[in-house]
Amino acid sequence: VSHAEFAELRQSMERIYTDLLPNEEGAVADYIPTLRDADPDKFGIAICTADGQVFSIGDADAGFSVQSTSKPFSYAMALEQHGAEEVHRWVGQEQSGGTFNDPRLSLDHDGKPKNPMINAGAIATLALVEPGLAETARFTEVKKTWERMMGAEPGSDTPTFLAERDTGHGNRGLANLMASRDMLRVDPRDRDAPDKAAEFYFQVCSLQVDAKRLAAAGATLVNGGVGPYSGERVFSQATSGQVLAVMAHSGMYDGSGQFFGQVGLPAKSGVSGNVMMVVPSKRLAVVVFSPRLDEAGNSVRGVEVCRRLVNEFGLHPYKGL
Ligand code: GLN
Repeated sequence: VSHAEFAELRQSMERIYTDLLPNEEGAVADYIPTLRDADPDKFGIAICTADGQVFSIGDADAGFSVQSTSKPFSYAMALEQHGAEEVHRWVGQEQSGGTFNDPRLSLDHDGKPKNPMINAGAIATLALVEPGLAETARFTEVKKTWERMMGAEPGSDTPTFLAERDTGHGNRGLANLMASRDMLRVDPRDRDAPDKAAEFYFQVCSLQVDAKRLAAAGATLVNGGVGPYSGERVFSQATSGQVLAVMAHSGMYDGSGQFFGQVGLPAKSGVSGNVMMVVPSKRLAVVVFSPRLDEAGNSVRGVEVCRRLVNEFGLHPYKGL
């Protein structure tokens, strides 16, 4: 992105931000206290380009748990360590047709999770991340990967982790169901291994980031896998491309199809109210943080920012040809 183009983008973002500030539609996630008690009025936008240009407005430094927006990066870590063929033995790459935690639609006939962007798939991909290491070392490895993408270490939102673990029966259920079909790569001699796999997922969902830092993680995916600040290679180009493709069809829960029709770009949302959208043609990532969610669980203002940006700059790859 040239400096002139970036300046235009800034102006447009300032206008979109002001326009959407009064929008109070939707409701915060209420399944755990830390999300239920979040300030619903928070609103921040950050943009980061592959070459490290940054723009932010509003609450772009406000911390939040990354939640489901960790999933593309956990998938990337598994792909890096095992290659696509092995990873796809354990997790599919099709739309699930259900919510992110649906007990019935998450797994295919073999018990394999449909894709890495739903909870079952994220638990399965995380089970492939450094499986030989002890728990602490595995979590440290994940944190280090995030640090290489963002140029700063993510925090850990402990109250959110504890609440996820307290209420995580559905996720433990999915992990146990996969293990019962030999579809979770865990130690078969450890009867608690599926519960531990779910716990690893809760830890990663509870990593704390902000819009600015998360935008740098997103920019890594359009920079061939190289962190925009560190200049360090985090993922291969092939891994980054594969992750974006799956985000494009399954990143926005069961609102993914409609979102792709309107926006046509890869994006991932998390229940804390974050949306990370990637613009491959401009090699940049946009992150919106605004906790009020729509019916599908996507940030209302987040989706609206993406739509407006794509319309104003003609970024939809299949429209206006
Ligand atoms: N951590 C929550 C869960 O596993 C929500 C993840 C998300 O952002 N959908 O249910």
